[in-house]
Amino acid sequence: MSEILVLGAGMVGVSTGLALQARGHDVTIIERGVPGRETSYGNAGLIQTEAVEPYAMPLAPWALTQIALGRGYDVKWNLSGLLSQVGAVANYAWNSLPAGHKRATVVWGKMIRQSTDRHAPLVEAAGAGNLIRKDGYIEVHRTPARMEKARKAAARFLEQFGVEARLMDGRELRALEPSVKIEVEGATHWRDAWACSDPGGLVASYAALFEKQGGRIVNGDAGDLHREGAGWKADEYTGEHAVVALGPWSPMLLQRYGLKVPMVFKRGYHRHYHMDVPPNHPIADFGNSVVLSPMRRGLRIATAAELTSHPRLTPPQLRHGEKAARELFDIGSPVEAEPWTGRRPCMPDMLPVIGRVPDQSNLWAHFGHGHQGFTLGPVTAEILAEEMDGGEGWAELQPSRLKR
Ligand SMILES: Cc1cc2nc3c(=O)[nH]c(=O)nc-3n(C[C@H](O)[C@H](O)[C@H](O)COP(=O)(O)OP(=O)(O)OC[C@H]3O[C@@H](n4cnc5c(N)ncnc54)[C@H](O)[C@@H]3O)c2cc1C
Repeated sequence: MSEILVLGAGMVGVSTGLALQARGHDVTIIERGVPGRETSYGNAGLIQTEAVEPYAMPLAPWALTQIALGRGYDVKWNLSGLLSQVGAVANYAWNSLPAGHKRATVVWGKMIRQSTDRHAPLVEAAGAGNLIRKDGYIEVHRTPARMEKARKAAARFLEQFGVEARLMDGRELRALEPSVKIEVEGATHWRDAWACSDPGGLVASYAALFEKQGGRIVNGDAGDLHREGAGWKADEYTGEHAVVALGPWSPMLLQRYGLKVPMVFKRGYHRHYHMDVPPNHPIADFGNSVVLSPMRRGLRIATAAELTSHPRLTPPQLRHGEKAARELFDIGSPVEAEPWTGRRPCMPDMLPVIGRVPDQSNLWAHFGHGHQGFTLGPVTAEILAEEMDGGEGWAELQPSRLKR
């Protein structure tokens, strides 16, 4: 048994605590705020076994032109936001070419397919079943061209990865989702995914489970992590080992320990809207770069990626998302005065960073889950815990790759 400090209590940090605790370690999680109130709070709530390919940067000439001209809603940027991470963005684009994307997919697919199996025992032990629906999410296709593309994608996913989806026409969609008020060409029902109606609440219940089982979550600043003998100290807490699970704040800390982390920070926004009859499933309207998730607080409209250093007060992607949502559904006024915002911690090679930090004994990395950290937390926690217990870890995920 070792004494271990885990820095950060998002989905990734709390899952790390649980995985290490299950192996008999004495774990303290240090969180400066409240567990599950940052990136792991603001997402679309999807636990996605079907997302076998990591999210590549759109590189088709038409898509790039749209992005460059600031026209589409998939990726927005401003000059300072882009310049502050230009090397990482260029590298991400390079890895999004077919060879790099294929390489990442092999590893990513292996992780993502385990996600609901890894969440299941935690949901049960935490008594959080009331937050989870296990009947998938729906991707709507408004035009025949998008429907055709979806047919090809579904066939490819089945053939290459064994992922099953149900394709529906507009009539079948309305039978499943009567609150959709316009005619659309069709939809894909990704049936194996799960949907969470309160992502922050799920992390909080995993955190409560961790404490009930003897773990400690303390309020403190992990930013002053420093050596204490052969181990580590942060705030007033010590441990033989420390795990950096600070999501988008991880690079800042690790720079001090000689690891330069080239992260792409993809900002997203969400806002809840009152709705009398919400959809039965989350609805992805990717043609409008938005996911609409029925949540406890209302219909959550979550946006795609923005490369900006500071959030906008009236983000164009959210304005557009709201317009798209109002076309599909009868929605009311916003619940909050201002939108929530957070940054997806994305690595340029689209794989999270998991394992031993080079040249630093007993310092471990666990971050960089990009678009699917809410899904992957419990999966990658197990990968890390196994390595910390003497396993080999996954070569493709090692922090040492960042030194090359
Ligand atoms: C709009 C949007 C939609 C998304 N949708 C999905 C989805 O549907 N499904 C999915 O799987 N993923 C989704 N994601 C991605 C997912 O939310 C993230 O990958 C995931 O939450 C990252 O978790 P984390 O624990 O690494 O980071 P975080 O949740 O950000 O946790 C990091 C923690 O570290 C703490 N911290 C930071 N600095 C310090 C410090 N100095 N001292 C102590 N504590 C500190 C923070 O307070 C925070 O609690 C989405 C993201 C966005 C933005």
